[in-house]
Amino acid sequence: MQPEELPPGQILIVDDQPANLLALESLLERPDIVVLKAHSGNEALGIMLETDVALVLMDVQMPEMDGFETAELMRQSARTRHIPIIFVTAISKEQQHVFKGYEAGAVDYLFKPIDPHILISKVNVFLELRRKQLALEKTSKELNEMIEGLRSANRKIIEQQSALIEEERLKVLLQMAGATAHELNQPLTGLLGTVELLRMDRNDPEKTERHLARIEEAGNRISSIVRKMQGIQIFDTIDLPSSSNEVWQHEAIAILWVDEAHRKSGHAETSIIQQIHSKITHAVSIQEAMDRLEASVFDLVLSGFRLADGTAVELLNKMMQNHYDIPLIIATSKGDERIATQVLQAGAYDYIALNHLGRKEWIQCINKALNKARIKKEARKAIQKMAELSTRDGLTGLYNRRYFSEALEREIARSGRRGSDLILCMFDIDHFKHINDTLGHQAGDMVLTEFGRMLGEWLRLTDIPCRYGGEEFAVILADTTKEQTFSVCERFRNAIAEHEFQYENQRFHITVSAGVASILDIAPPKTGDRLISASDQALYSAKHTGRNRIVLYDGKMEEQAHAAQ
Ligand code: GH3
Ligand code: MG
Ligand code: MG
Repeated sequence: MQPEELPPGQILIVDDQPANLLALESLLERPDIVVLKAHSGNEALGIMLETDVALVLMDVQMPEMDGFETAELMRQSARTRHIPIIFVTAISKEQQHVFKGYEAGAVDYLFKPIDPHILISKVNVFLELRRKQLALEKTSKELNEMIEGLRSANRKIIEQQSALIEEERLKVLLQMAGATAHELNQPLTGLLGTVELLRMDRNDPEKTERHLARIEEAGNRISSIVRKMQGIQIFDTIDLPSSSNEVWQHEAIAILWVDEAHRKSGHAETSIIQQIHSKITHAVSIQEAMDRLEASVFDLVLSGFRLADGTAVELLNKMMQNHYDIPLIIATSKGDERIATQVLQAGAYDYIALNHLGRKEWIQCINKALNKARIKKEARKAIQKMAELSTRDGLTGLYNRRYFSEALEREIARSGRRGSDLILCMFDIDHFKHINDTLGHQAGDMVLTEFGRMLGEWLRLTDIPCRYGGEEFAVILADTTKEQTFSVCERFRNAIAEHEFQYENQRFHITVSAGVASILDIAPPKTGDRLISASDQALYSAKHTGRNRIVLYDGKMEEQAHAAQ
């Protein structure tokens, strides 16, 4: 800051002799100094309380109140405490010890008769000090104002952000409610139906017992869904920066600017946007824009409405078709807001009217679009996580029974269309109950987790491994034959039998049995239930012929099953 920006310094001279006051005043005559005069200590204190004084030149010997007493009183008031004082005295230099008590403050001495050079140099030192003080005060005031401005901008951004988050949160909640309702529907319907049956069969103890077991099972399923819901934290994955300005503070934003007029006129806005720590790539047509999008990664697309080979709406549609999920801001001329609305309806994030736009408006608009895009991405991640949670089994991480049923129907329909084979394997751990009974339920859980992991690793990526229930696992395999599947299962069975499980300090082995059935061996109608029943029969046969084996289903089993009924 330049000293001339500051007002002149006011110097107060205090002396009981008018002649001395005049002499001092004439010595201090300068454009940057205003001289104030007082004839006594009292008068001096009054002036200092009324106006800003940069320095006091104080006569020591005065009647009534001398210079030291006046200084003492100045020290007692907050307003005058820090005003520097130069004592003017006839006391000789040899008697300087008199001033000892004042050495700590901004105090100096001038000895009569006054040497004008010494007076001016001392005055200059104090005035300079005062100027520096004032400049510092001004800067700190400006800084405070700036901080306040930043704070209020930040508050506004946070408010905007919370509105956006709320909007996305509601969407996620609605989707989650839908998914949960779907999931709850089945056990609830089962529960209500069984209650109805229970009413009808209330006099048949055997049936009542069965119905109660069903009700318990449905209740358990509902309670596990509820537990899962309680465990979901929708915004687990959302990690907002403390200030949304940070979105572009670290890396330059890559902007693709698509505009037919661009090359003809060149926009004044380009230079504004360039100041916003960004990297701009230009394109004039949809085709060129698509090529650019293919070649590099962009954070944002800015587009005019009319492009060389179409409009921004077509550009948006093309971007969507090609899965470019990048926020697009439509930049129109003032007055084209109707056009902008059209593009907004087609999925643009925002619109901005060109011309008359300052840096601040650009920053706001770009920041809003980038934030919205980021929040959308996070919300999508959360939805995906929820969808995964509702299709996976919590203990093993394999697909759950619900997903299995859907996948089986889908794969059967596909194999029907293509006339290809589809295999279902049903695995059941042998004497699993024994593990629970001897080592405890937690050991049983550990075995299930480990078994699930090994099963997942053993299979191809295209196979679909599921936890069918308790210690039963189902695998759907497409594009293979039952013979190939049989040999894969055989090797897996061996691997399981050889694997040493360990729970705490207990080491043990387990075995597994499986039934394998092919859709080609099922008589029509080729439904999921019939394929499950076929592999179940093969599994039943494996259990009854000694366990630790794989059995292939053949049509005769059905006859045997019919004969047994
Ligand atoms: P088999 O060789 O005939 O298959 O005999 P098994 O003991 O394996 O079969 P059974 O159906 O008699 O017993 C299965 C047991 O699995 C009963 C049930 O308590 C237990 N179980 C079911 N789900 C879980 C689970 O999530 N964790 C644990 N630890 N045990 C489970
Ligand atoms: Mg079982
Ligand atoms: Mg078992």
